[in-house]
Amino acid sequence: MTKAKQDKTEKDYSTYFQTTFKPPSLKEARRRRKKTIQFLNDFSIPDDIEEIGKGKKYLIRTYGCQMNEHDTEVMAGILEEIGYEATENEENADIILLNTCAIRENAENKVFGEIGHLKNLKREKPELILGVCGCMAQEESVVNRILQKHQQVDLIFGTHNIHRLPQLVKEALFSKEIVMEVWSKEGDIVENLPKVRKGNIRGWVNIMYGCDKFCTYCIVPYTRGKERSRHPQEIIDEVRELARQGYKEITLLGQNVNAYGKDLESIKNYGLGDLMDEIRKIDIPRIRFTTSHPRDFDDHLIEVLAKGGNLVEHIHLPVQSGNSDMLKIMGRKYTRERYLELFYKIKAAIPHATFTTDIIVGFPNETDEQFEDTMSLVRECQFDGCYTFIYSPREGTPAARMEDNISMEVKKERLQRLNALVNELAAESNAKCADQVVEVLVEGASKKNPDVLSGHTRTNKVVNFRGPKSLIGNLVNVRVKNVKTWSLDGELIEEKAEV
Ligand code: SF4
Repeated sequence: MTKAKQDKTEKDYSTYFQTTFKPPSLKEARRRRKKTIQFLNDFSIPDDIEEIGKGKKYLIRTYGCQMNEHDTEVMAGILEEIGYEATENEENADIILLNTCAIRENAENKVFGEIGHLKNLKREKPELILGVCGCMAQEESVVNRILQKHQQVDLIFGTHNIHRLPQLVKEALFSKEIVMEVWSKEGDIVENLPKVRKGNIRGWVNIMYGCDKFCTYCIVPYTRGKERSRHPQEIIDEVRELARQGYKEITLLGQNVNAYGKDLESIKNYGLGDLMDEIRKIDIPRIRFTTSHPRDFDDHLIEVLAKGGNLVEHIHLPVQSGNSDMLKIMGRKYTRERYLELFYKIKAAIPHATFTTDIIVGFPNETDEQFEDTMSLVRECQFDGCYTFIYSPREGTPAARMEDNISMEVKKERLQRLNALVNELAAESNAKCADQVVEVLVEGASKKNPDVLSGHTRTNKVVNFRGPKSLIGNLVNVRVKNVKTWSLDGELIEEKAEV
């Protein structure tokens, strides 16, 4: 038996609560400190850790949003730097990390299900390192639950501690106690972290971290810390590098990208519009951004987006509710009227823009009339797509102190009606594409049929068509032949020249 294996089998948690336990604190995380964010460029791997994963395999399961997907790319990059190789098979893995999402109860339940499921594997293979990271790791209630009921977990680290992964893995390999490092304070910005990107066609680039909006139902400002923007030059260099490597589409990422630049001390009055204006000059066919907050969506950004070119005409603009009173208790800081004003302003500037949105139904005290306001707003905006959710309280948020007084039956009925409308509008929007020629970025074979290629239009519609696999990674023109609610079937008409 190896030293590590002996250590794992002897692991003793009995003294943990009296000695090392420093749980993350949502209350602490709420504080926005005056401290200037540090921009660090000094990530390096200590000599004694450099080959710690040699001959071993890692697996990372990712839950939740695109930010998490991108954090996974960074963690994969770090693990590969210390010698680990990727595997998809959990039985072959020497380290399994669950990169978790805290935004909804459902997401958390899935993770706890997975932790339970991995218990058997851990029993058979005690040297396996099982880690929990991401947003759930920033919540004290989750950490307490893991410590008390899921002692198969070896490692817990938060969203601000990713750059410490080499040291944490080393500790987890040799410690007899669970290794936990979660900072409740906001993190710094570490620029030179390695990344293993998924695919080589579409890339994701963080432009900022955290969120200061504190919508009353949302846990993100606590789990991701305060808004911190990367320097524009770092972002521009990263996008240029991806263009050089042949990527065809870049999505700029942040929890609230429209607040980009507000915290930058070295450049005043520089926002998302300015950044997009610089990025659009880079030779890459498509640029997207997500997620927007209507409150911070300014005229300069609209002006820049209207220039078109590689800035695609799809706007994801979460509304959450169509009723101003609801929006007020959700802490969204805009009214129905202000949202519609912005919507029409963007539409006037970019007539072909398509819009998608997010909506929560069954928020505390939502009346039938207030829900009808949401339905009428959806009808008015004719969204191309809509992510719809039933409200569930997140512990530690202001909304969790309100009475969750809409019955599940009513919530489900509202969701069903909303989804029926969303489907109807999506089908109507797709019907307008019948017999049109659309530009498709070919991303790969369709999941349902390996003989069919699949990709997205500039407006983010899914298009399936038959063609040679050599087209993967190219922009092609496709004539739409058959229209479905959530996708279009077409016929390849010509390969588009490389942009
Ligand atoms: S803008 Fe609101 S919903 Fe979006 S991440 Fe910030 S607090 Fe959450």
